[in-house]
Amino acid sequence: MSATNGDDINCTRMCGDNTVPPKDDLPFTFSQEPTLEQLRQTQNTFSKERNWGKFHQPRNLLLALVGEVGELAELFQWRGEVKDGLPGWTEPEREHVAQEMSDVLIYLVRLAEKCHIDLPTAAARKIELNRLKYPVDKVCGSSKKYTEYTAD
Ligand SMILES: [Mg+2]
Repeated sequence: MSATNGDDINCTRMCGDNTVPPKDDLPFTFSQEPTLEQLRQTQNTFSKERNWGKFHQPRNLLLALVGEVGELAELFQWRGEVKDGLPGWTEPEREHVAQEMSDVLIYLVRLAEKCHIDLPTAAARKIELNRLKYPVDKVCGSSKKYTEYTAD
């Protein structure tokens, strides 16, 4: 897991790591809506209207999701290191990234629905578990996997 601007700021407060973004760099945020539940409902209606539910078994959705991850990866392929905010990318390139990320999210939300996984709650719980697995005092500024420091 790599640090974002917000993580850097928090890490600085917690352990003194000085990888802080410039002060005039406002943190990026998402819109409040649509929520994942709203996206689930919208996609569910979209599928029902087309009678596509019969194709949306979990395995099919997982394979479609992996395919979309590949399409997203292709946009970053051969570009070397890419900085936060995609500086230098054209608007059509950024729009393409947004569409492929959306394909990934839409399939993930649909897969979670079909598996009866409450994805927003599960994701929040997973972040909490990661917090316990990666205590700030042990991992701040380090990219080591938890197995590399739990033996200490
Ligand atoms: Mg796609």
